Amino acid sequence: MKYVSTRGAAPVLGFEDAMLAGLARDGGLYVPEEIPQMAPGDIAALAGLPYEEIAFRVMRPFLGGALSDDRFAELIAAAYAGFDHDARAPLVQIGPNQFLCELFHGPTLAFKDFAMQLIGQLFQDAMARRGDRLTIVGATSGDTGSAAIEAFRGLDAVECFILYPHGRVSEVQRRQMTTPDEPNVHALAVDGDFDACQAQVKAMFNDHVFRDRVHLTAVNSINWARVLAQVVYYFSSAANLGAPHRPVGFTVPTGNFGDIFAGWIARSMGLPIDRLVIATNRNDILHRTLVTGRHDKAGVHPTISPSMDIEVSSNFERALYMAYDRDGAAVGRLMEELSCDGGFPVSQGALETLRETYLSGRADEDETRATIREMHARTGEVLCPHTAVGVKVAAEHRGAAPMVTLATAHPAKFPEAVAAATGYHPPLPNRMRDLYDRPERLRRVPNDLTALQNVIGERVTT
Ligand SMILES: *Cc1c(COP(=O)(O)O)cnc(C)c1O
Repeated sequence: MKYVSTRGAAPVLGFEDAMLAGLARDGGLYVPEEIPQMAPGDIAALAGLPYEEIAFRVMRPFLGGALSDDRFAELIAAAYAGFDHDARAPLVQIGPNQFLCELFHGPTLAFKDFAMQLIGQLFQDAMARRGDRLTIVGATSGDTGSAAIEAFRGLDAVECFILYPHGRVSEVQRRQMTTPDEPNVHALAVDGDFDACQAQVKAMFNDHVFRDRVHLTAVNSINWARVLAQVVYYFSSAANLGAPHRPVGFTVPTGNFGDIFAGWIARSMGLPIDRLVIATNRNDILHRTLVTGRHDKAGVHPTISPSMDIEVSSNFERALYMAYDRDGAAVGRLMEELSCDGGFPVSQGALETLRETYLSGRADEDETRATIREMHARTGEVLCPHTAVGVKVAAEHRGAAPMVTLATAHPAKFPEAVAAATGYHPPLPNRMRDLYDRPERLRRVPNDLTALQNVIGERVTT
């Protein structure tokens, strides 16, 4: 199994090297050269199996022998052992033929744990085999950083630094980053906003001497291994709802397009997904692209579903690559136009392909709050604001097949928005009840490259 770049000008790599590289050398994203197929009988056989077994069967063909079967099964088991629901990704019915797939039973209460926990195990295993160590540096506006710290805590081949904007993440998010006490994970509170954090990470990657000295790596949402881990719950949900005999639809609260692209991979492997619906908040560049045929930046507006507040959607490049028939040079030109002119027109052929592949919708702030309120009144189910965006859009795209909305975060992660809509204050799950009492450990750092490099350099001696 080989991986190629969406811009067509980077080395072709195997699974492990594509995972460790993150971004391709030509600025593109890695995608599989071809998509492995799953026969209807193999899909039917997934129904009722433990999540870990489904994960093994779905992901194994993408590894191309990078790991032995026994080792891969062990890493999957370790990745999901910390989830506090035996089904890992349980389905909940919210109406006739309408379901939620709850993806928030991992350690940081959001779906990013599914990918991040597995990537932690895969990185650790690869480094241990190579006798090497890695430094992970990431910028976060909240969810990704806590998922990364949870995934890498205590893994001795990895040193993990997360930069977050001081005073600008929620208290739950901050405490999730600052309370793990393992010495290899570090929460760095930067005096600046999220863009400043992201710019510092970029600057560190561009300092090649520093980058090579500390073996710098990123685990942001474009990492292929993260997308792969997210393919699994499409299979587990659909098989449990009657696939392959019965098709299933999915609606996905979308920001950087990683989660929904995993749905496209599942469908391309043979899973009968009849509708794949992009749900956006008012940061709706993806919805506008499908409606108007132009992909134009329009700034970022803060919302009550902050993990979907994006200006551009990084993994959309993978969908464009497929819609342009894997023409890397064409995708490279579009990305150039996006950064120079702030947008580009999608070609007629590619637009038709995208419209055949994805449906879309948006929910503004009032609609999101109204959906949380109605769902609570009608079913007692408490939705996080991201999931509510999905449920609102899913209702506009119902058909004969069951519709599954991915529930991407636990409502207790966004208690103010939920309480404002319902009057109900969602409590943290039991095992996290003492989050507010645990001691915090963080380091305030100026918005300054040299200062940040010194903090990292002190810890990483090579
Ligand atoms: C990251 C995130 C999303 C968006 O997922 P993408 O893969 O970036 O599209 C939606 N909801 C929550 C809660 C998230 O953390």
